[in-house]
Amino acid sequence: MTGPSSSGGKAAEQDQFLTVLSREEAMARFEAALGPIAISVEERPLAEALGAVLARDVGAPVDVPPFDRSNVDGFAVRSSDLVAAGAATPVRLALNGETIACGTVPRIAVEIGTSTTIATGGPMPRGADAVVMVEHTHALGDDAIEVQRSASPGQFVSYAGSDIARGEVVLRAGTPIGSREIGMLAACGIAQVCVARKPRVAILSTGNELMQPGEPPRPAGIYDTNGAIVSAAVAENGGVGQFLGAVPDDEATLEDAMRQALSDCDMLILSGGTSKGAGDLTHRIMARLGKPGIVVHGVALKPGKPLCLAVCDGKPIVVLPGFPTSAMFTFHDMIVPVLRRMAGLPPRAEAEVEATIPVRIASELGRVEFVMVSLIEGQEGLAAYPTGKGSGAITSFSQADGFVRIEALADHQPQGSIAKVTLLAPHVRIPDLVIIGSHCTGLDLAVSPLVREGRSIRTLAVGSLGGLAAARRGECDLAPIHLFDSATNSYNVPFLGEGLEFVPGWRRMQGIVFRQGDKRFEGRDAQAALRVALADPNCLMVNRNQGAGTRVLIDRLLGKARPDGYWNQPRSHNAVAAAVVQERADWGVTIAPVAQASGLDFIPLTEEHYDFALVTARKDRPAVRAFLGALKSAPCREALTNAGFEPSERLEDRVIPDLPR
Ligand code: AMP
Ligand code: MG
Repeated sequence: MTGPSSSGGKAAEQDQFLTVLSREEAMARFEAALGPIAISVEERPLAEALGAVLARDVGAPVDVPPFDRSNVDGFAVRSSDLVAAGAATPVRLALNGETIACGTVPRIAVEIGTSTTIATGGPMPRGADAVVMVEHTHALGDDAIEVQRSASPGQFVSYAGSDIARGEVVLRAGTPIGSREIGMLAACGIAQVCVARKPRVAILSTGNELMQPGEPPRPAGIYDTNGAIVSAAVAENGGVGQFLGAVPDDEATLEDAMRQALSDCDMLILSGGTSKGAGDLTHRIMARLGKPGIVVHGVALKPGKPLCLAVCDGKPIVVLPGFPTSAMFTFHDMIVPVLRRMAGLPPRAEAEVEATIPVRIASELGRVEFVMVSLIEGQEGLAAYPTGKGSGAITSFSQADGFVRIEALADHQPQGSIAKVTLLAPHVRIPDLVIIGSHCTGLDLAVSPLVREGRSIRTLAVGSLGGLAAARRGECDLAPIHLFDSATNSYNVPFLGEGLEFVPGWRRMQGIVFRQGDKRFEGRDAQAALRVALADPNCLMVNRNQGAGTRVLIDRLLGKARPDGYWNQPRSHNAVAAAVVQERADWGVTIAPVAQASGLDFIPLTEEHYDFALVTARKDRPAVRAFLGALKSAPCREALTNAGFEPSERLEDRVIPDLPR
């Protein structure tokens, strides 16, 4: 948004966000503009009802079972005839001349001193009030039996309506129909049900940069994430999503697409184009689509501020923020309640748990901030780790178990405080194995055998130091680290301390990467390559962030030199490779597997050691043992080797050779 410093900027800002409303006020305005939501209803044959939502309560039109019936194979009797029956005092009963099987209508009453042969499920004959099992009788020829036990009234009889009584409400409106519900309906003889017609929700993504999944990537393109995610989330909440693709930021094209979508659907959800910049057309178009138009533009939520809500001639139109996590969050928080009502579903039951916040979470004053968290079993109950990597990150949503709400008046959530976590799914599954620390693609290879065994594994990338801190608090089983100690010229071991044990991981060759065919680097060793790079003012480098192991290495390489590109300091190995591939830089330092995967040429520099700090107190947990076993196994070592890593084994390997200078 334009800064408020100049008056021109202020006017532009006011045009964008007329008023930033609180979440509650925004919801109230949206609901008021929508008015009462009438559910449209349709009849469905039972065979097509799976997945639909009942629109009305269903009362049983019949008793289930419809008559008193026998639960066993045996004889229908009068219990009063058998009061004195026992092993030593058997009672003789005459047999009536019929056999009652399932589906047989009894014709002969059971008079005093008689009985009738009856099968499991057979209707009880008049006069009989109990059944004796065939095992507790003796046949006396063809026309009588002898009974060795007494029978209480009602023994082995299921009474009419005892399962479901006629008129009883068996299923309530709002119930999603699954196989159980279909079974209930079938048992009551119901062939047609009245279900809510699923609201049709048109979904449009906006942005010139968007590519659809499956398309080959193109420069400056971004895969359309919101289209897929919103379509699926609409279906999860009772709607039928109709994804209409991504529309470029062009007013006429977008207006056509929006009008078309509105004519076919009950609701329209767009994403992107709500924040700032030349492409922000949606709100202008919406003003022309019907009354009352935009009712909310800007909500004091983080993420999610640019949310825009409109109602045009009775149909809700929602413009979600462009960043997928913000889009998802606002969708779940503010749109799902409306969608579920339209779909005839009850509000989603949200469960809450209490958890300790292990790290300080900064928050913006004046906006309610929602922070996605991942739940970990700590030593004193649950710990909730923020999973956010910024509102542009999609992983923060997929890793999250729930979210914490930081009130508008707080500027942070203190470390060690207890917070309520609203769960995204009704049941949290605490992972079997928790790995917190530095991330490496090799880690995915090492945990994959456990995943195949059905264990749930959570890996959180918080960097080596963050991982060690979590390990010391006992919030993870293992912390993967790659920390170089210049005092001992060794990796990782000096950082462990009490309560933590060393588990060797693997080594990754660090080296200089450059594009294939770059004559400045081709065929040179590291020293020569570096000399050339530093001598050529057109040769641009890409650095790494402070605190990264690779940064330490780069600074040692460069000494006092600060070549052009030094201040470009991305936070990952892959970002370095991407910068070189995309010609934003000519060289950088990254690990061999990443260079290999990016098709870059590589001049080896030194090995970096990626190992694990194992929390001693947790080392006997089954999943930990399984992981340690997998790590040592031949298939895992082979997979690591194939991906360009070198599995380590011995402690003495930990000393790294001197760097070329
Ligand atoms: P906008 O609100 O259009 O300025 O978008 C904000 C950010 O979200 C930009 O980085 C967009 O590239 C990104 N974005 C917008 N729509 C999508 C989408 N459908 N999928 C993934 N990213 C998106
Ligand atoms: Mg856009």
